[in-house]
Amino acid sequence: MTETSAPRQSAVFLDRDGVLNVYLPGDYVRTPGGLHLLPGAAQAVRALNNAHLPVFIISNQQGVAKGLMTGADLLHIDDALKRNLAESAGAYVEQSYYCPHAASDDCPCRKPKGGMILQAAREHGLDLATSVFIGDTETDAQAARDAGVGAFVLVLTGKHQNAASFPEATDHIAETLGDAVEWALLRRVGA
Ligand SMILES: [Mg+2]
Ligand SMILES: [Zn+2]
Repeated sequence: MTETSAPRQSAVFLDRDGVLNVYLPGDYVRTPGGLHLLPGAAQAVRALNNAHLPVFIISNQQGVAKGLMTGADLLHIDDALKRNLAESAGAYVEQSYYCPHAASDDCPCRKPKGGMILQAAREHGLDLATSVFIGDTETDAQAARDAGVGAFVLVLTGKHQNAASFPEATDHIAETLGDAVEWALLRRVGA
């Protein structure tokens, strides 16, 4: 064993809307009361917690740039999400990363760019090649690829209800977050 650096940590990245909570086509979750966890989502996060795989939320929230909510509103919604996860299943996320910018801002964080994932990797010492991104949109797949995340799982609880219309490469397609997590654990734990 000549390795001197600390072993790096695999992680699971989750998009928020359509993955953890109900997706509102053409709209944004603008208030804490407007956020509704998908069935089984909290239990799926708890399964990752039990496996000691850190969970990160990676989410675009352009509604802030559009003036539909404030940055403080977004943080209150994040608090509500974390409270719902805890109360539903004793589940928790390590950290949430949100891009509040507009598509026209050309920031480094907004998906399909990998900026938020790379920031999480820097801040938490994550090994992206052995990590998994679970998302519901094309831009999730593109951001995961841009950052070098080892696997992308499409979950069919958000923008796409079937995989036929999904144009990006996937490593797995899951009906629910629970199914996606099961796949991630089989693929990653002990690997
Ligand atoms: Mg989404
Ligand atoms: Zn941004």
